[in-house]
Amino acid sequence: MQYRTRAKVGPRLSLLPTLIMIVLALVVAGAIFVGFRVLFAPRPRISLGAPFDLVGRNRPLVVEVKDRTGLKSLRATVTQGDKEQVIVDETYDPPRNEAQIKWSPAQDPKIRLRDGPGKLTVTARNVSWGGFFKGRASTFSKSFTARLVPPRIEVLTRQHYVNQGGCDMVVYRVTPAETESGVVVGSAFFKGFPLPGAADPAVRFAIFALPYDVDPATPIRVRARDEAENESLVGFWVKVFPRTFRTREIEVDDAFLNKVVPEIMSQTPSLTDQGDLLKNFLAINRDLRKANNQAIADLAAKSRAEFLWKEPFLQLSNSQVEAAFADHRIYKYHGKEIDRQDHLGYDLATVARAPVAASNDGVTIMAQFFGIYGNTIVVDHGYGLLSLYGHLSAFNIKEEDRVKRAQTIAQSGETGLAGGDHLHFSMILHGTQVDAREWWDPHWIHDRIQAKLEEFGPAQQKSAEAAGNPQRPQRTGKARR
Ligand SMILES: [Zn+2]
Repeated sequence: MQYRTRAKVGPRLSLLPTLIMIVLALVVAGAIFVGFRVLFAPRPRISLGAPFDLVGRNRPLVVEVKDRTGLKSLRATVTQGDKEQVIVDETYDPPRNEAQIKWSPAQDPKIRLRDGPGKLTVTARNVSWGGFFKGRASTFSKSFTARLVPPRIEVLTRQHYVNQGGCDMVVYRVTPAETESGVVVGSAFFKGFPLPGAADPAVRFAIFALPYDVDPATPIRVRARDEAENESLVGFWVKVFPRTFRTREIEVDDAFLNKVVPEIMSQTPSLTDQGDLLKNFLAINRDLRKANNQAIADLAAKSRAEFLWKEPFLQLSNSQVEAAFADHRIYKYHGKEIDRQDHLGYDLATVARAPVAASNDGVTIMAQFFGIYGNTIVVDHGYGLLSLYGHLSAFNIKEEDRVKRAQTIAQSGETGLAGGDHLHFSMILHGTQVDAREWWDPHWIHDRIQAKLEEFGPAQQKSAEAAGNPQRPQRTGKARR
């Protein structure tokens, strides 16, 4: 009987624990689910996509919000004093796992920030059952300073004349005084600096160029940009003299290729030998020329913020100009055109191994073999102005040496891409190759640079003193005597 009972009850008894197990598993799973929704669901994560300390008109607020359970709502406000303004107030149905706020003070006419301190508050809530079924919330807040008034620029010099490929100087005031400024011409930027000796710390000067290869109608403007990226652009009166540059044909023969190519290849590890003299020449004339000119442009960063020179620049004495600035060269080999390049300096010839004088006072920032220019010296004259001496046979100075105007710094030669002994001379302003002829001209130097520096620099201070309006108290006695 027992056996029968057992046999009858057995399957029922074995079914019960399975059912209990299933129910228990469901309860546990439910509890875990509820636990996650209530207790363990993490709060939304709020982070800044970009710094938000100093707020300008053009600097956007970027906030990233992420949540695993799902975001239900997002709200962001800015508070200044007791005035709260809502940037974003959104609810999400269906919930989402991430959201982004991108807001720019300049593009939102509804919200008016004012200069000064403020506070950003971002609140995000998810769909979890935390917070008594309202969802778990995160709040992020950040103090900021708004600076929304763009810098002010007032151009002080009245008339400007610029030859294509040449330079001129503008004097202006920029406020606040610590704002970065300069002249923009197309993609070129010519940094402005405090004018030496000016009593007013807001007075700046910028020597700028109209690059030889831009459209002469390219706008020339003073630009000021503050720490909060507020930007101002101001045009000024400038008369532009467009120029057409010469075109010259250069016949390249095997004797020339054999002279220049192996030397440059052996001195330039970055070049790969293509096993063909003409191919190697073309790589030098195109790619290495470009790389060398970029390296020259990058040297501007090494220039000191001071006038290292006082007098006009010197042309190599008794020299003949064999090639001029911005000559457009057509290269031919066996009568067939193989390349076109622009020559960005003056080729000056006298006698072989002629002494090469520094064109002005300065500091040497390069003295080495330098690609197409061969043995090369670059002298910094300050405020982004450099002079370059190429194809030298010997150096008399080394990098970091101070040089004086007319001091012999090298001997001319024919290293690099040179068919015969000559000096390649060029002037570079903030990375832009400019026509050196202006810098050799004492009248040009006086009218365009020195007269303006004197008008707005120490001379202005002296005239103020003479008018009985001394800038420095200790000079009062002298001025009265
Ligand atoms: Zn040259």
